Amino acid sequence: MIYCEGCGIQLQTEDEKRPGFIPPAALERDHKYCKRCFRIRHYNELSTVDHNPDIYLQILGQIADTDSLVVQIVDLFDIAGSWIPGIHRHIGNNPLLLFGNKIDLFPQSIKTGKLKEWMHSYASDLGVKPVDVVVGSAAKQEKLQEVRNAIERYRQGRDVYIVGVTNVGKSTFLNYLLEEPIITTSPYPGTTLDVIHIPLDDDRNIVDTPGIVKKNRLSEWISPKELGEVIPKSRLNPKVYQLNNGQTVFLAGLARFDYVEGQRQPFTCYFSNRLYLHRTKQEQADSFYEKHLSGLLQPPLDPNDLPALQKHRIVLRGSEKQDIVISGLGWIACGKERGVVDVYAPKGIEVTLRPSII
Ligand code: GDP
Repeated sequence: MIYCEGCGIQLQTEDEKRPGFIPPAALERDHKYCKRCFRIRHYNELSTVDHNPDIYLQILGQIADTDSLVVQIVDLFDIAGSWIPGIHRHIGNNPLLLFGNKIDLFPQSIKTGKLKEWMHSYASDLGVKPVDVVVGSAAKQEKLQEVRNAIERYRQGRDVYIVGVTNVGKSTFLNYLLEEPIITTSPYPGTTLDVIHIPLDDDRNIVDTPGIVKKNRLSEWISPKELGEVIPKSRLNPKVYQLNNGQTVFLAGLARFDYVEGQRQPFTCYFSNRLYLHRTKQEQADSFYEKHLSGLLQPPLDPNDLPALQKHRIVLRGSEKQDIVISGLGWIACGKERGVVDVYAPKGIEVTLRPSII
């Protein structure tokens, strides 16, 4: 059997419409990619292949029966949104190493200790006790030696399973581990399709698994064309708004927040630098949205692409800084004043409150 070097799927030459198709002539090549990976690599385009969440859960479920180290990669830009639901049930008694990827997006002044502490407590609230938490950047190759060392320290001669939802940078990280880019990475969610084994030097393997698509992340709803504006590629330049109550900030046409009640205070927006933000008066916000959606306020270019906006009322307790997170889009760090904020995000997208991480 031959497997695609990009996504690990078993290759087949019979049916062009099914996943894993490779034209018979392409089997002669040194590096063999399925048609889909070939196109992503060479033309940067994505053909739609159905994802079956059952297959993913089946693969995850098998981990419990192994003796291995599980490395869960989460996207630091969206930790809660990129968390694998019920991970501890899937992996049985195997130790879990938590790797927060995309640290390069954070301001250089970030205190990684605080971030790791918060990740520990987030995991612990979900009943998960990671053996350790590491952070780094797979794409910019920052702090990866630490991640590599942690894997080596905790695996103690066992196999390593790499798990994560789509778009956390799993393929990028595996490329680094391989030191030769043979796994396809793409800005589109859901590129890794099947399990892929990478041999380690002691007869053990690193096992890659397909990423589950979580529909409560906004990034999974955006068309590939618009994703470039939503998924940050470079260090975030936070934008600070000093808001009085009765003011609104639009996050392109994707979300909006209204400062409904409270003293004047700063709201620091951590979103992709390319995302268009617009401040206006709350009383004019509805008509502004109607008039400018898909014009000034875009993405989305086509409002039919997204579910309608739903209101989430958030009460800021005051005294300590808190972040309002819109899953897959970014977060707003609120000031220390008490207050009430209404966040509007597409229905089904997670909106959560956490202690400030920066
Ligand atoms: P996968 O679906 O988890 O395998 O994710 P990919 O490796 O295909 O990466 C998804 C997207 O995240 C791509 O656009 C990558 O360029 C980007 N990405 C991956 N690692 C990093 C990182 O360390 N920092 C940043 N800023 N982007 C990353």
